[in-house]
Amino acid sequence: MTKATSKTADQAFTSPLSPSESGAHVPLRRTKIVATLGPASDRPGVLEAMLKAGVDVVRLNFSHGSADDHRRRLNDVREIAARLGRSVAALGDLQGPKIRIARFVEGAVKLEVGQTFVLDMTLDTHSGTAERVGCDYKTLPQDVAPGDRLLLDDGRLVLDVTQVVGQEVHTRVHVGGKLSNNKGINKQGGGLSAPALTDKDREDLKTAIEIGVDYLAVSFPRNAADMQEARELLGAAGKEIGLVAKLERAEAVADDTTLDAIIEASEAVMVARGDLGVEIGDAALIGTQKRIIKHARSLNRAVITATQMMESMIESPLPTRAEVFDVANAVLDATDAVMLSAETAAGDYPVETIEAMNRVCLGAERERLAQESGHRIHEGFERIDETIALSAMYAANHLSGVSAIACMTSTGYTPLIASRIRSALPIVGLAHSPIAQRRMALYRGVVSIPFDTTEMDPANLNHEALKCLQAQGFIHPGEHVILTRGDHMNAHGGTNTMKILALDSD
Ligand code: PGA
Ligand code: MN
Repeated sequence: MTKATSKTADQAFTSPLSPSESGAHVPLRRTKIVATLGPASDRPGVLEAMLKAGVDVVRLNFSHGSADDHRRRLNDVREIAARLGRSVAALGDLQGPKIRIARFVEGAVKLEVGQTFVLDMTLDTHSGTAERVGCDYKTLPQDVAPGDRLLLDDGRLVLDVTQVVGQEVHTRVHVGGKLSNNKGINKQGGGLSAPALTDKDREDLKTAIEIGVDYLAVSFPRNAADMQEARELLGAAGKEIGLVAKLERAEAVADDTTLDAIIEASEAVMVARGDLGVEIGDAALIGTQKRIIKHARSLNRAVITATQMMESMIESPLPTRAEVFDVANAVLDATDAVMLSAETAAGDYPVETIEAMNRVCLGAERERLAQESGHRIHEGFERIDETIALSAMYAANHLSGVSAIACMTSTGYTPLIASRIRSALPIVGLAHSPIAQRRMALYRGVVSIPFDTTEMDPANLNHEALKCLQAQGFIHPGEHVILTRGDHMNAHGGTNTMKILALDSD
């Protein structure tokens, strides 16, 4: 284990990038916050208050809302972020093959334990009763067999398959209750064969490119090939859009080979605990979350922990203790980001939720565990830029008097690699491209600052970087900064130098 600096996260960094209302500086939060937009954030003044409270990435959820809703929301985000001088990334999230029952004549029914219930592929979409209901996934009868267990409405109702008769799946109700229109179906243990990208997803993917998202999430990928298919559909736009694999199928996390291949086929992954928990069972969730985060970080990918993190705040201004501990646990697991869904999209307290998340992340980041790293300490490195990034982090964590790591970067890659190592020090990405700046908004511990070298004398670059870091409050006279850069600026993968610079005391 490498020792972290003796500074706490609070002392390590106070930045004018995050001034409080009073003008006093507040500490940098390393863990990033992803907030889903929706009717709640559409209310007057709410989006701006959410961004001010600390949202780093907004999520546009293509399961709800129209293309126009997403376009309008992203325009508003860009306008507010520009005004606040912030880099806020946008994550488009495709709905994917969420399998749903059709509708009931009366809107809902009540299923009793022990009764039979039929999922009937031939029934039209509005004719459901307490005996049978239609389903939009016509190949369900081929994917299930007697003995299988189906979970409806995120596992609230449980049906055991007794027989498959032609286009009908006959079940016995194991856990009953109210079942309403269009609720989702999962198969326990996974194994539904629906491909990850539906026709709707292909349309939404075009919308996502057109409105200019920075990241695009693919729902329910089964394997790396599903991610590659999405990448092909992105075409040229794929250079500017990072793909996020939502890990929410049992087969995607069943073995390390499949998991690692999906991670490597993506720029980031999401621990999509809602659907994943239904498919693998809640008892397996905690270990799986830790395994996914560890694998993503070792493979140099970012990772988002999602779903029900502050669920009670949909209706309450304060989180429960259990939610506080869940968010803190994800921070200690070293997730890059924590995500809010209905809390900010449809809840009564979207701004309070961001404030609570900010507070809890900062608290957890003060723990020593969040600042220490043994990342790849016993492994060989393959790339020069990677070697520089990791060496810079170890130097920064070991040398006293260092106040930041700064990386001149064209794509944000060096800060990503550096941020795989835990530290209490800020990693500053100095980048010219707004796309690179927004890409970095997801990386734990990374702050981006616009830095345009095109007009600068190459001999002066280090000095210009120091000036810029001082102006933004990242370094004070007498302190050191570790700077990484390439001999040739603006070349991707060109980082080959690390320098320890001091800001002279005057
Ligand atoms: P969803 O994905 O919110 O789109 O369902 C996240 C999850 O399943 O946890
Ligand atoms: Mn899901």
